[in-house]
Amino acid sequence: MMKSTHIKLSKDALKSNWDFLREYFKDKKLSAVVKGNAYGHGIEEYVTMAEQCGVNHFSVFNAEEALRVQQTVAENTTIMIMGAIEDEDLAWAIENDIQFYVFNMERLHAAIKAAATTGKKALVHIEMETGMYRMGFEQSMIPELADIFKNNTDTLIFQGLCMHFAGAESITNYFRVKKQKINFKRALKQFKSLNLEPNMIHTCCSAAAVRLPDMHYDMLRIGIMQYGFWPSPEILIEYLNKYKTVQSPLRRIISWESKIMSLKLVPPGEFIGYGSSYFAHQEIHVAVVPVGYAHGFSRSLSNTGHVLINEMRAPVVGTVNMNCVVVDVTNIPNVQINDKVTLIGEQGDQEITVASFGELSSQLNYELLTRLPMDIPRLII
Ligand SMILES: *Cc1c(COP(=O)(O)O)cnc(C)c1O
Repeated sequence: MMKSTHIKLSKDALKSNWDFLREYFKDKKLSAVVKGNAYGHGIEEYVTMAEQCGVNHFSVFNAEEALRVQQTVAENTTIMIMGAIEDEDLAWAIENDIQFYVFNMERLHAAIKAAATTGKKALVHIEMETGMYRMGFEQSMIPELADIFKNNTDTLIFQGLCMHFAGAESITNYFRVKKQKINFKRALKQFKSLNLEPNMIHTCCSAAAVRLPDMHYDMLRIGIMQYGFWPSPEILIEYLNKYKTVQSPLRRIISWESKIMSLKLVPPGEFIGYGSSYFAHQEIHVAVVPVGYAHGFSRSLSNTGHVLINEMRAPVVGTVNMNCVVVDVTNIPNVQINDKVTLIGEQGDQEITVASFGELSSQLNYELLTRLPMDIPRLII
């Protein structure tokens, strides 16, 4: 069945982003973070395209996402779970060489047990607590960790030592981030003093990768930037100033489209849609677009959002409904049923960016993207 809305993914834009990232980070090993359904882009479609751009390391949040990536990628591609995996699924992960974070003793012991049943070794990444206070081992546990690794060489491989920064995209977190750096370096030193070294070290998300070159180590975990967005305006401005340019080298991959479902003339003196939030002072020509808050088109765009039709902007009138939205096309000539409607993306010289869309609905780029429902078809173009 045809869907009333779809998301397009630009392979050209993705290739250009990966070319930029590789050059900018000087060919450091990069992991593509594809949690949250590849930030809303669709894991299967996104991962397929990324592999064609030469990406061979993917990071996900949980085991379900790891399975989806695994079913899509080539055999020698690395998959790393940074968050949730049930004990029952550890043996599956180990058997399939899927690497995973370990941030507490419970999981470490479960991994040893699971590895013993498979006859393969678990590839574990030890996450350190450095000041984010979410997940991670306290530094005081390092001696015990070292003993466990030394006594379980038949089941464990110390694949990685890692951490995550608590907001490297904002200068307001400067001191906290600085403390995290010191704590991590101290932990690393302690492992070394116990004659234990991980195969690799990784600490940086996109913002940290841009801001903290001294924390790059062996690999960067790049999420938002591969999709064409900067972690925050602050990081973008910093980049533009440093490289004396005015344009972001990153390109948006995603665009979101629908079609006009219905057209109507509203006589003056009537309200449009539910309730009385929009009053027609004069005759208004409106179009109904079959996309609503159930599709991720936030209700807070009621009477404030825009869409593009025939290369012109059409403002949302009235409240965003569950499955549709009404837009004002009075000033757009020759509007027809089935005309293309762009919710995110470009038409002619008009553009609706993810940031403007997100700002109007008080959402971060991250949040807006990951809320795009899984069942909207993703088309690679
Ligand atoms: C989400 C995430 C990343 C990627 O963050 P971006 O800001 O999108 O680059 C990296 N590491 C961890 C642990 C994450 O959860």
